[in-house]
Amino acid sequence: MSNYKLLTPGPLTTTNTVKQEMLKDRCTWDDDYKNVTQAIRKQLLDLAQVDESDYTAVLMQGSGSFVVESVLTTAVGEGDKVLILTNGAYGERIVEMAKVLRIAHVVYRVPYAEQPSSLEVQALLEKNASITHVAIVHCETTTGILNPIKEIGEVVYSFNKTFIVDAMSSFGGVPMDLSDLHIDFCISSANKCIQGVPGFGFVIAKTDELVKCKGQARSVALDLYSQWEVMKRDGKWRFTSPTHVVAAFAKALEELVEEGGVNARYQRYADNNQLLRSRLSALGFEAYISEELQSPIITTFLFPHKKFSFEHFYQEMKKAGFVIYPGKLTDVDTFRIGNIGDIYEEDMLALCEVIKNYMVVKNHEN
Ligand SMILES: *Cc1c(COP(=O)(O)O)cnc(C)c1O
Repeated sequence: MSNYKLLTPGPLTTTNTVKQEMLKDRCTWDDDYKNVTQAIRKQLLDLAQVDESDYTAVLMQGSGSFVVESVLTTAVGEGDKVLILTNGAYGERIVEMAKVLRIAHVVYRVPYAEQPSSLEVQALLEKNASITHVAIVHCETTTGILNPIKEIGEVVYSFNKTFIVDAMSSFGGVPMDLSDLHIDFCISSANKCIQGVPGFGFVIAKTDELVKCKGQARSVALDLYSQWEVMKRDGKWRFTSPTHVVAAFAKALEELVEEGGVNARYQRYADNNQLLRSRLSALGFEAYISEELQSPIITTFLFPHKKFSFEHFYQEMKKAGFVIYPGKLTDVDTFRIGNIGDIYEEDMLALCEVIKNYMVVKNHEN
């Protein structure tokens, strides 16, 4: 199997040193291992620019969606109601979870290429006094749009509501001060901007808010409060923990610090994204999201012409060593290219060169 560059929003390209950490078996109740978990929890607070006196970090087995569901089932109680903002598939997934969990909810839906408005959120909160929580996706990975969590957080805070943010594909790659953003529950996972491998996710929660959640979850395995209660003592996971993945994640955090922290990583991602957008634009690929709303994470491109075959393009890119991502929109034909992970300027330049050659050859064929 070749080592492709995964230009996807997770799992993504990781370093060999991160992968090497998984060659050792570790014991879940051994102190050395539990200390790794405790160190990770502390480092996550640093990345979120918050302090142990206000916030706490909880790790949870499963992919990112498991952790979103864990927050919903734990934080939103019987008599509560959540306002869900959605402009993409991940926002819709939160709506679906609320339905299945039988959580009372209100949906504020906007078109995929647009941001939700903080004024509308304000109007909805004024109109529906029974709303207790507001949930939003930060970077909607469906399109690559970045949502305005700062303005919306201000409104949510002014109404004294609990703010839940799915920052799955942005945390660690976009600087965030959780306290400044008024986030009560921030969710992300191991295999996105921190550049670990898949297997668990984490929540950085306002401790006061998490404490209120005792006994609320409608799930045993996804009970975030119970997970925290056990983990905060000495770093023990409640059920089997993904030991290899946790070890790899600890290494990935170390490498994030070596790179210069979240600001440096953000800069690398933003440069990658800028390069990708400008080079592809010159080759006739139009981006779906306008430049001002574009995240530095992943970009959606429209097919350049009617005869464009994504399948053929995909296979040609793969032969050249790059794995790209299909689109997730129903009304227009698109594909996506992620630029996060262990990906640098030279990778972006190499990819753009391959795409350029592809377009030249294809144009001759037509
Ligand atoms: C990746 C991602 C998730 C979680 O997806 P999983 O496949 O369950 O890991 C949730 N929200 C967003 C915005 C994501 O990018």
